[in-house]
Amino acid sequence: MPDAMEDRPALLRDGHGREVRYLRISVTDRCNLCCRYCRDEDVPFIPHENILRFEEIEKLIGLAVELGVHKLRFTGGEPFARKGFLEFLSGIHDRFPHTALKLTTNGTLLGPALDTLKKLGVSVNLSLDTLDREKYAAVTGHDMLPTVLDNMHRMLDMGIPLKINAVAMRGVNDVELPALASLAMDWPVDVRFIEFMPMGDTTIWSRNLFWSAADILETARRHWSLEPVALRRKGGEESEGKAAEERGPAKLWKLRSPDGTLSRGSFGLITSVTQSFCQSCNRLRLTAEGNLRTCLFDDTEYPIRDVLREKGLDAVRAVMLDAVARKPVGAEILAARHGPVAHKRMSAIGG
Ligand code: SAM
Repeated sequence: MPDAMEDRPALLRDGHGREVRYLRISVTDRCNLCCRYCRDEDVPFIPHENILRFEEIEKLIGLAVELGVHKLRFTGGEPFARKGFLEFLSGIHDRFPHTALKLTTNGTLLGPALDTLKKLGVSVNLSLDTLDREKYAAVTGHDMLPTVLDNMHRMLDMGIPLKINAVAMRGVNDVELPALASLAMDWPVDVRFIEFMPMGDTTIWSRNLFWSAADILETARRHWSLEPVALRRKGGEESEGKAAEERGPAKLWKLRSPDGTLSRGSFGLITSVTQSFCQSCNRLRLTAEGNLRTCLFDDTEYPIRDVLREKGLDAVRAVMLDAVARKPVGAEILAARHGPVAHKRMSAIGG
């Protein structure tokens, strides 16, 4: 990313001194899978007329970029479940060529898009909780693991920058830690376990399911020696490490197997619950129906769809600046609650 973009002043600042540089956009609440912890089959999808149109999202991105955002992640629902998403993404790349484009996907519908993703330089986060076909079908409601694995291997072969995210679930994928993490031994890919976040009505799934980062780490240490990946600081000496911007909130380790082989990729933990990274949170979310959301754990949303449609971008700018100024510290919300921290599930917010 050219310095010109990185050095653009951050005009989105909150009351805790944090700068918002990263916009996560849910392009749809629809998904072709129904992960039991993520989407409630009984909750109806948002009607089409209430979803932001692509040209509206593009206008909002233009505003965010002007205010200093230099990283965009497209998510959902499943981004590829929305018709025309790839063409939209190409248009965003053409209009904002210096903005980093990222994607979070379940990987089921990726096949026809791979050449374009490679051409556009989009980085992909692939959600993959299990390598067991029956478990995959039980968790997601669909027998699609072979398609996902096929697309994963194609991405690896094509050199598309890839991270694999597995939601850590005790009794579901804990026994699979060696198999999932082994992907990082064999490929230059980061495999990250994400702590399960208590969002929406997840009680059935979350009661005994939570598997903490500390326990995951202990399990990993039974199989490999773990060597921390150093953080490379901007302006600091070049090192093997990853730039903070690139690694996001994950703690990363290289794996060394008992025969001395070092992993090509890294093993990571995203400790959203037990060790928050709120102090460095630089994120703003845009939901599919056009609400700004400044914190995953805070239900407050700032509707901007109708502001945009009725009053225009200047009015949206004022709402955006105000929303960011009030951005809370999610860890404090989490610490103060015993039940779910947010009423919506992730698919309705945009993960
Ligand atoms: N459909 C896309 C996908 O599967 O990656 C994007 C949307 S999905 C909501 C984004 C991510 O959120 C997935 O990796 C999913 O596993 C994760 N997720 C959903 N609910 C979660 C929860 N309660 N705690 C942690 N991660 C969750």
